[in-house]
Amino acid sequence: MSKRKPTRNNRNNKGRGKKQSQDTFKPKDIVVKEFDYTEGVSVKDLSELINKSPADIIKLLFMMGTMVTINTSLDDDTVELIAMEYDMTPTKVEAVDALTLEDTIEDDPAMLQERPPIVTIMGHVDHGKTTTLDTIRNAKVVDGEFGGITQHIGAYQIEHNGRKITFLDTPGHEAFTAMRARGASVTDIVVVVVAADDGVMPQTREAVDHAKAAGAPLIVAINKIDKPEQNIDRIYSEFTDLGVTPEEWGGETVFAKISAKTGEGIDDLLETILVATELEELRANPNRLAFGSVIEAKLDKSRGPVATLLIQKGTLRQGDPVVVGTTYGRVRKMVDSRGRELQEAVPSMPVEIIGLNEVPIAGDLFRAFKEEKESRAVAQKRNNARIEKDRNQSSALSLDDLSDQIESGDIKDINVILKADVQGSAEAVKAALERVEVGDGKEVAVKVIRSTVGGITESDIMLASASNAIIIGFNIRPTAAIRKKADDEGIEIRLYNIIYKAVEDMEHAMKGMLAPVFKEVIHGQAEVRELYHVSKVGTIAGCMVTDGKMVKESGIRLMRDGVVVYEGRMATLKRFQNEAKEVAAGYECGITIENFNDIKMGDVIESYGEVEVEQR
Ligand code: GDP
Repeated sequence: MSKRKPTRNNRNNKGRGKKQSQDTFKPKDIVVKEFDYTEGVSVKDLSELINKSPADIIKLLFMMGTMVTINTSLDDDTVELIAMEYDMTPTKVEAVDALTLEDTIEDDPAMLQERPPIVTIMGHVDHGKTTTLDTIRNAKVVDGEFGGITQHIGAYQIEHNGRKITFLDTPGHEAFTAMRARGASVTDIVVVVVAADDGVMPQTREAVDHAKAAGAPLIVAINKIDKPEQNIDRIYSEFTDLGVTPEEWGGETVFAKISAKTGEGIDDLLETILVATELEELRANPNRLAFGSVIEAKLDKSRGPVATLLIQKGTLRQGDPVVVGTTYGRVRKMVDSRGRELQEAVPSMPVEIIGLNEVPIAGDLFRAFKEEKESRAVAQKRNNARIEKDRNQSSALSLDDLSDQIESGDIKDINVILKADVQGSAEAVKAALERVEVGDGKEVAVKVIRSTVGGITESDIMLASASNAIIIGFNIRPTAAIRKKADDEGIEIRLYNIIYKAVEDMEHAMKGMLAPVFKEVIHGQAEVRELYHVSKVGTIAGCMVTDGKMVKESGIRLMRDGVVVYEGRMATLKRFQNEAKEVAAGYECGITIENFNDIKMGDVIESYGEVEVEQR
């Protein structure tokens, strides 16, 4: 869209001409002088705002040299141009604060309804956090509802005397602080578990500090009271020293005495939580689009990105477009902590959803939108802001001549974007890479500017391009489309499944010795469309070659949703009944994998080989 604005003269002329023709079929009494619009308003929506017909706007923009349709979304400059034409004053209003996703909508107090408390359990290791969470969960659900089928979703809701309580099932202070660091304050009440036979320990102190810093009311649960070594008075005294004085000693904090093992006192603890809740007056408006926080997120091999969300306001419905952190999508399916499918979820409910494009991070905020285009625009804006922020933190790097650049002192940091199958390996690879040193007294550091779980996405490539980074994939494989995009942008993607290989390559690249004697070449990819199980032979995958070609007895990777589930060698490649050397894109073939039969429909088989490359 051209940013050139028309001069005042020609604007007035045009404007007048327009108005005359319009007056004949527009209600005269509604003359719009000022209007509010939101970013990316469509031609149709704008036409309603300014009381013109969409055709007028389309014609107007056409005369200015821009072709639009009724659904085109307009940028700010264009909205201003149109407003000028009609002598109107536009004001841009933010539907939501895209950059923070913060809740800017004031709820009408009359709409507020009571909501269950959200409780986090903290305490020193081995004092019984996990056992307490398990005991509460098991005691408070109808038999058979849980059992082995329940997946862990990071939070669950129970009912005690007809009232609900939500527990964040992520014991440990890291989760709590990580969420707070990301701006999510979800916890209403902190329960500090302390073992009756052990007393206040470092992490007990930390837990008290966290609760105080978060301004959350605190309840102490003295656990393991079944043990003969318990010493309640000592615990009272140790907590009093921390400024947490028990009610019995004239203070304000309730100390519940429990045995997570026998279940004793658990009901009292729940009662205490509910009483504390009454004082807090926890209320939320369920009659609005949902807003809340991510409790947990992961990449599931068969379902794609899966996120556990905690609804803090509003009602989340299946099908709702959502922005979660910097990613977006639609709530394709939603289940509660018992794995039951839900159509809608109200405040304080933890739910697991699928349907996002990428894996968000625990502590990210989320928000539901009415229209998908709105959510896409907000996610895009957040992504751009993140890229901008990441870019500002990084300096330039060109990959081909890494060691030359180091030699000439051009670079200080080697930017890396790291994508891995699970959080654990992302962290391990990040730590290992950041320890790599070039030596010779040169101060060059590997800097991981983004490290997330999941397949490589377009936004990773955009960031890599913006900040001259290498993308390192660990136990993941890019799709053919992503590979092409990376090629177009000149971005290097390196894939590993062994940490030391990644480290070794990085060391070599930095020292100018990188020039792997063998370089991997991807022959192509095929999609598994049918499966045949033949005794003696194993599983034969009936495939369609979707890209490149399949090569007989080559190295293969089996991918499920972009994640490598197996790496090995192709055993046989057949076209109909005959052995084939190669099968090209667009043709069907039958593939078996050496020593591997667990192939599933929809899997992608990648065939690769190695070529010798010249040493530089
Ligand atoms: P966490 O590290 O705080 O999550 O602690 P766990 O819940 O894993 O418990 C640590 C150990 O204490 C486990 O061996 C539990 O079986 C034991 N434990 C937990 N609660 C009780 C209790 O009430 N009584 C007794 N005797 N042992 C308990």
